[in-house]
Amino acid sequence: MNSYDVAIIGSGPGGYVAAIRCAQLGLKTAIIEKYSTLGGTCLNVGCIPSKALLDSSHHYEDAVKHFEEHGIDIPGDIKVNLKQMIARKQSVVDQTTGGIDFLMKKNNIDVFQGLGSFKDETHIIISGEKETEIEAKNTIIATGSKPSSLPFISIDKERVITSTEALKLKEIPKHLIVIGGGVIGLELGQVYKRLGAEVSVIEYMDRIIPTMDSGLSKELNKVLKKQKFKINISHKVKSVERKGDEVIVKADNKKGEEVEFKGDYCLVSVGRRPYTDGLNAEAAGVKLNDKGQIEVNEHLQTSVKNIYAIGDVIKGAMLAHKAEEEGVFVAETIAGQKPHIDYNLIPGVVYTWPEVAAVGQTEEQLKEAGIEYKVGQFPMRALGRSRASMDLDGFVKILADKTTDEILGFHMVGARAADLIAEAVVAMEYRASAEDISRMSHAHPTFAEAIKEAALAATDDRALHV
Ligand SMILES: Cc1cc2nc3c(=O)[nH]c(=O)nc-3n(C[C@H](O)[C@H](O)[C@H](O)COP(=O)(O)OP(=O)(O)OC[C@H]3O[C@@H](n4cnc5c(N)ncnc54)[C@H](O)[C@@H]3O)c2cc1C
Repeated sequence: MNSYDVAIIGSGPGGYVAAIRCAQLGLKTAIIEKYSTLGGTCLNVGCIPSKALLDSSHHYEDAVKHFEEHGIDIPGDIKVNLKQMIARKQSVVDQTTGGIDFLMKKNNIDVFQGLGSFKDETHIIISGEKETEIEAKNTIIATGSKPSSLPFISIDKERVITSTEALKLKEIPKHLIVIGGGVIGLELGQVYKRLGAEVSVIEYMDRIIPTMDSGLSKELNKVLKKQKFKINISHKVKSVERKGDEVIVKADNKKGEEVEFKGDYCLVSVGRRPYTDGLNAEAAGVKLNDKGQIEVNEHLQTSVKNIYAIGDVIKGAMLAHKAEEEGVFVAETIAGQKPHIDYNLIPGVVYTWPEVAAVGQTEEQLKEAGIEYKVGQFPMRALGRSRASMDLDGFVKILADKTTDEILGFHMVGARAADLIAEAVVAMEYRASAEDISRMSHAHPTFAEAIKEAALAATDDRALHV
C-alpha cells in the first residue's frame, strides 16, 4: 500500500494548490479526484468557463452595439455562433485543466482518479477503475460544493437548469428566468442577455448581490436595468413548473401578490451547498455542522487532529482564491509553519460589465460595529479613460476610519474593477490610510485614477476632477 505524508481529496483550486505547496515543502503528496479532469468546479464548470463566455458575449455585444460608433463597419449581419462560442469555452477549460495535470507531474504529486472515501483516520479507499487503498499521515478534505436548489424545484437539467448546464446550452433562450440575484445568476444572465435573450431575475432579498455593500447593489441594479434586465427584488419563488418547452415560475411579491413568469429556460442560482457525498467522513470521526459543512478550528483542523478541510466545503465565502489561500495555509501548517489568513482582505468580485469588486468592510458592517468612518466616492464617468472607452458607469467608494484615516473598506463598480481591486488589497494589507493612496502617482489616463480620486475625496474632500 502506498503511504503519503499528505493525501488531498478533491482537486479544485483548494486541493490542487494545497498539493503543490505540500510538494514544495518536501511532503510526499497524493491527490484524489473523482472526475476525469483536475481543477474542480472552478476550472471545469465555474470561474473559467463562465469568464470565457462572458468575454465572448462581451465581444459580440461590442460588435453589435458599439463598433459603428467607434467607426468600424462590418458588412452584413453580425451573428452569434453559439456552438463555436461553447466550443471555444471548452477549449479554454481543456487547456486550463491540462495545465493542472502538468503541474501535478512537475511537482511529483501522485494523482488518483476515483472517489475517495475514508476507511479510518489514516486510510482512504479510492474507487476508480479499480479499487486502491492508500495510507496518509495527514489528509486535506477539499471536496468543494455543488449547486443547491429549493425543496420544491425539480432540476431537469434541460429547461430548469443550474450553472453547470447554463455553460453549455445548445440555443440562446428567448426568455431566461434567473432565480437568485447573486454573482452566478447575474454573470450567466448577462451572458445570455448580451446574446439576445430576455432575462428576468427574481431575488428573494430586497436587493441584488445582497451580501455586498448596498451602494454596489444599487448601482449594479441601475446599470442592469439600463441594459434591459428585468429585476424583481423582494420576490419569494413558490413554484417552478415545466410544461413542454415552457417554464412557469410563480412568486409572491412584496405585497404578497402572486406574480407569474413564463420563460423557456429557468436558471436556478440560489447558492451552493458543501459537498461530502461518498466521503464517508464518519468512518474517520470527522464532524459536520448543521449546514453540512465540515467543522474546522482556526487551524482548519477538523474534529480529527490529522485531518484538515478547506475551500467551499467549510465555512466562509465560496470563492476560488479563498480556497487557494486555505490550501497554502494548511500545507504550511502541516509542515510546522505558522501561516496566517486575513479573511477580511479576501476580495469579492462580480464579473458582469461593469464589474463589481470589494474588499474589507461594507458601510452596513461599519455602522453595525459602531465604527465612525468617512466616505470618499468618485464617479467613473469623470475619468478621461472612461470616456475614451465609453465605460462610464460606476464609481469607487473608499471607507476610511474617521480618526486614523486607515482604509476599512473599498467598493467599486466599473470597468476592470476585478483587476483594480488588487490595489485596494495591497493598500489594506499594509494598513494604508486614504491619504497614502491619494499621494501615490497613478498613471494617466487609467481607470485606476478613480481610486486616487476617491482616496483624495476621503482624505479631505480633495478630489481634483469633480
Ligand atoms: C458558475 C460559477 C462561477 C464561479 N466563478 C467564480 C469566480 O469568478 N471567482 C471565484 O473566486 N469563484 C468562483 N466560483 C466559485 C468557485 O468555483 C469555488 O469557490 C471553488 O471552485 C471552490 O474550490 P474548492 O477547491 O473548495 O472545491 P471545488 O472546486 O468544488 O472542487 C472540489 C473537487 O472535489 C472533487 N470531489 C468531491 N468529493 C470527492 C471525493 N469524495 N473523492 C474525490 N474527489 C471528490 C470534486 O469532483 C471537485 O472536482 C464560481 C462557481 C460557479 C459555479
